Amino acid sequence: MLVGRENPADNEPFRHPPETPMFPSHYACSSCHEKFEFAFREAWYYVGTEPVGNQVAYDDLLSVNIRPAWCKDCDCLCLVEDIASVRVFEDAYGAARGGRKVDYPGDTEYMDAAGALKEIEDQLRWRMGRRQAPRALCCGGARYQLMNVAQPLLKHAQCDFGVVEPKSCFVGAYCGPGPGERSPANLRVYDAEGDLIGQLTWNKREQRMWAVEPLQYPLPVADN
Ligand SMILES: [Zn+2]
Ligand SMILES: [Zn+2]
Repeated sequence: MLVGRENPADNEPFRHPPETPMFPSHYACSSCHEKFEFAFREAWYYVGTEPVGNQVAYDDLLSVNIRPAWCKDCDCLCLVEDIASVRVFEDAYGAARGGRKVDYPGDTEYMDAAGALKEIEDQLRWRMGRRQAPRALCCGGARYQLMNVAQPLLKHAQCDFGVVEPKSCFVGAYCGPGPGERSPANLRVYDAEGDLIGQLTWNKREQRMWAVEPLQYPLPVADN
């Protein structure tokens, strides 16, 4: 006879990493106070099977997990893909199947059980197929320094003593129309390997579609 286990961990949300720090709103130099901002703060994978046309279905989009970083090629604050091991994705999938909330590789806090399971299953399928190492989403490059690690701090290049530190400010609740309704949202879309392929412009809620325009990484500057 099966007996339900009295394991409190079974009811706790699955988190990776266990203590997820708040994503900073911007960074600033500790000495000269120069402010560094993200050019964009969210990104999506297109995981549909057909080539992208002028619109994509909600169901063919997957949120990109991101970490703040400094891109040494673009010399800017940027986002880098946050890609944990397959094992972490499998554990999250197990947790979602067990009805637990998951916050990585997808945040299921406000999803119903079926939606949560689909989200994590889609993330696991994407992870199984992913080959390349995490890329900086500004240029697709690999020359970056992660900013959400304790050490080392990033020294501000122009300053003798300054380091670039995270700053957060309270962002109030927003109740107006969502992005892509009164003006184009311009959210970046990448293929499964992190190549920039387009940007989402207008949100067509009734059809569960986003209009999409082509967009590509800037061509790398040749090293001569
Ligand atoms: Zn400085
Ligand atoms: Zn870059």
